[in-house]
Amino acid sequence: MSNESPKIRKISYILVLLGLYLSVALYLADTRRDKEQQYLGQTVTLLNTIYQASLDRYALAMDSFHDGLLRRSDILPLLQAGSQAEGMEQQILREALYTQLLPDYHDLQARGIDQWQFHLPDGRSYLRFHAPHIHGDNLLSVRPSLQQVQGDPVPRYGFEVGRLFIGFRFVHPLIDQGKLIGSMETAVSFQQISQTLSNLAPGQAFLFLLHRETVDAVSLIDVRRQLRPAVISKDFLLDTRNVFAQSDTENLPLDALLAQLARDNLSSRLEQGEHFAVAIYHQSLGYSASFIPVYSFDSSLGGYILALHPQPLLTSIQWEFYSSLGISLLAILLLGWLLLSLHHQRQRALQQKLRLDAIGQAVGEGIYVLDLEGRTLYVNEATCRLTGFNAEKFYSDNIHHLIHCHAGNEHLSLSKCPIFTAALKGQSYESDEMFRRRTGELFPVVVTSRPMIENGKITGVVTVFRDISERKEHERKLALLATTDPLTGLCNRRAFIERLHKEQRLRQRLQHDSALIMIDFDHFKRINDDYGHKAGDEVLKHFARMASDCLRETDLLGRLGGEEFALLLPGTDLQGALHLAERIRQCLEQNPTQMDNQQIPMTLSIGLTLLDENDSDTSAALSRADKALYQAKNRGRNRVETA
Ligand code: GH3
Ligand code: MG
Ligand code: MG
Repeated sequence: MSNESPKIRKISYILVLLGLYLSVALYLADTRRDKEQQYLGQTVTLLNTIYQASLDRYALAMDSFHDGLLRRSDILPLLQAGSQAEGMEQQILREALYTQLLPDYHDLQARGIDQWQFHLPDGRSYLRFHAPHIHGDNLLSVRPSLQQVQGDPVPRYGFEVGRLFIGFRFVHPLIDQGKLIGSMETAVSFQQISQTLSNLAPGQAFLFLLHRETVDAVSLIDVRRQLRPAVISKDFLLDTRNVFAQSDTENLPLDALLAQLARDNLSSRLEQGEHFAVAIYHQSLGYSASFIPVYSFDSSLGGYILALHPQPLLTSIQWEFYSSLGISLLAILLLGWLLLSLHHQRQRALQQKLRLDAIGQAVGEGIYVLDLEGRTLYVNEATCRLTGFNAEKFYSDNIHHLIHCHAGNEHLSLSKCPIFTAALKGQSYESDEMFRRRTGELFPVVVTSRPMIENGKITGVVTVFRDISERKEHERKLALLATTDPLTGLCNRRAFIERLHKEQRLRQRLQHDSALIMIDFDHFKRINDDYGHKAGDEVLKHFARMASDCLRETDLLGRLGGEEFALLLPGTDLQGALHLAERIRQCLEQNPTQMDNQQIPMTLSIGLTLLDENDSDTSAALSRADKALYQAKNRGRNRVETA
């Protein structure tokens, strides 16, 4: 499981990054599409307007040509006469009209009008200027334009697929004195229209896509032979006659662009009959393909004008898209690399921490690490165990204030704490200190602190401490044993003499009197003999208690050995000392030891002396007191003597 989770984490990192990249890519693609659409929308709208304007221009020209024709007095009578005549007569009249209008036909041809034809009111062709020998055929069934003009005699124009000609027709009714005497039709080929469009929108290649159904229904086989399937959609045919390329569009890779359009699957859009444009890319260059719908007289979709145009803006939009995609990929790879190295770093730190924790747990000493501001960086288990606080408390609180007890200054700040400050100066510190448990109980510790050095700089303080309560207690007991008399609990000879020595020096400085008293039981041997050794011990203990009760706190009573005691009275003059010695003597005399319902009487001999500044050492004062005691023995015992 522990091996699994880093792997799972790594996979989730990769998935998150992939997801992120995908979202960025989608966003960029969306932005690119929006930009393309906006630009293409403007392009196709402009082109559509140009196309409509071109048609209107031809229509306007045809209107004025028609009006001019009507104003001529010779034309309508000639046409009307011809329409009513038959046979040779009609042929003569037709030829007369043809000869009459031939200069006008040449004029029209010069202006780009490919076909000119007159119809009779019943829809029969009367005169084709572009094919004068063909006439008399009824066109009504195949020309919706004628049907419309017959139904409502007003000028009409639009796209129409004929049996031999596919193009734009302009049909004008010919009315004489309110009577329809026929109609006049002019037609412009798509080449002509595309030539006009090329002049207005240079640099574009114009192709004509014909709706297959319309062509199949009307056109003759000769016309259809010149059409080939438009690869873009199976419903449309490409008019090869109309592929018009000006010198500046000769280099357009038409076949490649058409193949590209075929891949875009535009059939359903083409069915809708609305203008639209798509972007196509060939060899990293952008092109616009604008589709302008062309409607027939009967409002059915006749085809599309397809304009192909190199578009540097589309190229730059594409370049911008791919470079943004590349930059985001790099950024995400960089982010991934950063995350991965952070992850590794974290793993290493975690491992190091686990190792440190294991070491910290293994040692019995308390270890804690503080940073330069005194914040806890690390505490081991032993620190918690020894102090009773939990680790969270140490991390959230000031460890120094929690556990370190500065004797005499409870509120010493961390900046004055020797454990901390010594290490900050680069020194190690080792000392016995007092620490406090959570319960408030103090305990002695031996502390070692050292600076924590990282990259050559002091970054904190490492402190190691050990609970030395047991050692201290042991030392205390040893010290007590070394200085105390086990029978009476009074200080022993060594301790008494040490204290006497101190008092000799102190007295000299303070210039006060201090007294030294020697006490010896009278005939103690007899007590032992009469009551037993145990009783003798009881007497000694009884004395220790009684005498102690008579003393001040500063006085010191010690047992020098056997049944011999000494009393040091600092700050006491001869008078005071005599008074106390007498009190002790009397007290013991009057209070015999009680044991096994019997009383053991006792008396004391006491020798007294004052400490003298001329005394070279303790033995001088002791021998003087001893001398006084000797005197007391000699003078009958149970008394106090001075020396
Ligand atoms: P004196 O009046 O001359 O001092 O006579 P004394 O009997 O007291 O003579 P001395 O001081 O020479 O004898 C002290 C006796 O005290 C000797 C010893 O048996 C007894 N003794 C010493 N230490 C102890 C003790 O710890 N317990 C008991 N029960 N007796 C002790
Ligand atoms: Mg004695
Ligand atoms: Mg003695």
